[in-house]
Amino acid sequence: MSGKKIAILATGGTIAGTSPVPGDNLGYTAAQLRVEDLLASVPALASLPLVSEQVAQVDSKDMTFEIWRKLAQRCSHWLAQPEIAGVVLTHGTDTLEETAFFLQSVLAPAKPVVLTCAMRPATALVPDGPQNLLDAVSVAATPGAHGVVAVCAGTIHGARDVRKQHTYRLDAFGSGDAGPIGYVEEGRLRLLRSWPEISGDSEAALRKFMQARRWPRVEIVMNHAGAGGAIVQALVGQGVDGLVVAGSGNGSVHRDLEAALCAARDSGVMVVRATRCAQGEVLARPGDVLPHSAGLSPVKARIALMLSLLD
Ligand code: ASP
Repeated sequence: MSGKKIAILATGGTIAGTSPVPGDNLGYTAAQLRVEDLLASVPALASLPLVSEQVAQVDSKDMTFEIWRKLAQRCSHWLAQPEIAGVVLTHGTDTLEETAFFLQSVLAPAKPVVLTCAMRPATALVPDGPQNLLDAVSVAATPGAHGVVAVCAGTIHGARDVRKQHTYRLDAFGSGDAGPIGYVEEGRLRLLRSWPEISGDSEAALRKFMQARRWPRVEIVMNHAGAGGAIVQALVGQGVDGLVVAGSGNGSVHRDLEAALCAARDSGVMVVRATRCAQGEVLARPGDVLPHSAGLSPVKARIALMLSLLD
């Protein structure tokens, strides 16, 4: 460690989950332990210069824009302190990739912001949270690390590529074709590729976001056999601002759903085409009638569209 401090910000999740039945990995309640409890579960952290803050206490399936606003503000606050080397954020696994992508979009920080999590609650026979937290602190304390990344099961993923890809395994995250940024092995990093980009104008992006009085409403619809336009028409009727379609394969969309999406676009709703495939990105084809998501998954394309609609 450089002697600088790491700020640990907690938001809940399974890493802070407990069950009344020791060893029960399913029947637990997320977001029960506080940040002090998480730190106390890792003896190796006791001698390190840390500061901590409980920013939220939720199961991340219930993540809200208000929590994102507070998180962006608290990350920005800590990152601005000269004595802080980086930030570690404990988070549930369910929407971790969305929070990571959101924070990278509005902060693109020159210091590391490391999200970490657990697939098993703290009361598991062998909980994975303590090791993940220790690994995340190692990454946040690494000189030269920057941008928003996720650390789980000894692997470092970039915010743009990280995706929860398994419902149960401890190694639940992947980075698709891009591959991980690297690995954490006994506190040392083995890097495979570069850290996420640092933005030149992240302050402007953050200010625009913090000042927004209302988040644009962007919904995700999925293509599937027999898909039609009724859901799109209902959403347009409710005044939706943007739509992401999770197309099949290379972003293909059933003709009836596509007709409804084109009508929505013609009425002023922004429409973006992603893919429901877990890997790969939508490649442009001649004659495409709807723009593609530039490699973003549906949930991340939704965040990108919301942020662009703030303009
Ligand atoms: N539902 C939990 C959450 O996202 C799952 C987890 O953390 O693994 O908070």
